[in-house]
Amino acid sequence: MTITDDQLGRLKKLIDEILAGNHFYKRKLIEAGISGSSCLRSIADLELLPLTTREELTEDQALHPPFGTNLTYPTDRYVHWHRTSGAQGRPLHWLDTKESWNWLKACWVSVFDAAEVSSKDRIFYAFSFGPFLGFWIAWAAAEEIGALRFSGANQSSIERLRNIVNFQITVVCSTPTYALHLAEIAEKEGIDLRNSAVSKLIVAGEPGGSIRETRTRIERNWGAIVFDHAGATEIGPHSFACSQARRLHLNEGEYIAELLNDGGSNSKTGELMLTNLGRSGSPVIRYRTGDLVQIDDNPCPCGRPFISFTGGIVGRLDEMITIRGVNVFPSAVESVLRRFEQVEEFRIEVSRVQSLDEMVVTVEVSSDLIVPAIRNELVNTFGLRIPVIAVTPNTLPRFEMKARRFIDKRAG
Ligand SMILES: [Zn+2]
Repeated sequence: MTITDDQLGRLKKLIDEILAGNHFYKRKLIEAGISGSSCLRSIADLELLPLTTREELTEDQALHPPFGTNLTYPTDRYVHWHRTSGAQGRPLHWLDTKESWNWLKACWVSVFDAAEVSSKDRIFYAFSFGPFLGFWIAWAAAEEIGALRFSGANQSSIERLRNIVNFQITVVCSTPTYALHLAEIAEKEGIDLRNSAVSKLIVAGEPGGSIRETRTRIERNWGAIVFDHAGATEIGPHSFACSQARRLHLNEGEYIAELLNDGGSNSKTGELMLTNLGRSGSPVIRYRTGDLVQIDDNPCPCGRPFISFTGGIVGRLDEMITIRGVNVFPSAVESVLRRFEQVEEFRIEVSRVQSLDEMVVTVEVSSDLIVPAIRNELVNTFGLRIPVIAVTPNTLPRFEMKARRFIDKRAG
C-alpha cells in the first residue's frame, strides 16, 4: 500500500468518526458539503475539506469554555490535559484520550528511532515540565523504548549539568537556546561537557536545530550530535531529523502535509498545513501551522519516503520582516549572528515606522570591535544595512524554554 492510499483510508475513518460526535468539525464539514467519508474518493479530495485556523480554535474555546467543542467523545473518555504556551495569543487547552495518547507516543518513538536512540540510552530532560504536551509525550516515549529517563524539573542549570555528568547521560532533550546556555554555564563552572557521556541532543521549540550555524555551535560546545524535532501541543510531534542527513522529515505515516502559498501547486515554499491521522479524540484537519517551510525534493540517504524540509522550519509567518522589499526571518538573522563566536547572546527588535518595517540587532559581546564585521556580514547576506548595537556580556536575558529574542513592536 502506498503512503497516500494509507493516508486516504485513515482520513476516511477519521471523518466518519468525528462526524458522529465532534461538534466543531461536524459543523465545519457539513458547511463544506461533506456528509461522510464517501465524499472522499482520492487523496486529492482533501481539498474539499475546510481549513482550520488557530483563531477558530481559540474562539471556539472562548465560546465554549474551557475545552471548546473539538472533542469527539464525552469528556470522561479523556485522560490528559495540556495547554499551549500562548506565545501566539490566548493559550489553547487540549484534551487527549488514551488511544490518542498512545498514538502521540508512537509519533515520539519515531523521533527516537530516527535519532537511533535506544534502550541502552540514558535520557535527560532539561525542562521544567510545564503544561506543554511535548515534555510529557517525550517522557512517555522514553519508557516505551526502554531507555532510562531523568527529569530535569525543579533544578537549577548547574544542578542539571551535574546530574547530566554524574548519571552518565547519553541523550539530552532541550531547546537549542537552552543547550547553548547550559554549555555557557558549564564553561564558566569548569564542567567538561565535551568529554561527558552525552552523544546526542534532541532539540525542539525553535528553528535553531536546523540552523546550521546554531547547530554547529551546540555540537562543538557539547561534543555531541544535534537532532532537530518539530511539533506543537495542538498538532502533536510531526517532524524529526534522521541520523544520516539530519534533515527534518515530516512523519507522513501519521500526518498529511500540504503547502499553502500563492505560487501555484509547483511552488515548494509555503505555510505548512497538517492533518493528523491518529488523534481522533481531538484532531486537527488541514490546520494552518503558521510555519514557513521549503520542501526538499531530493531523496534522503536514509531512504525514508517522507518529505523533508530544507533548513527545517524556516520561521513563523507572522515573524517575517519586510525591509525595503526584502523578506527576512529572525532565523536567517540568527544564522548570521551565530557565525561570530564572540556573540554570546542577541536580540532582534522590529518596529514599524511610517508603515515600513525597521530592524535593530543588539549583540552581547566582550569587545565591540567585532560590530563592523557583523554589520558587513548582514549586508552581504541580505543586501541591507541593519543597525547593530553592542552591549556588555550578561546584559541580555537567558532562556530555559522558547527564547524571546525576537521583539516585535509592529502590532497595532
Ligand atoms: Zn533522512
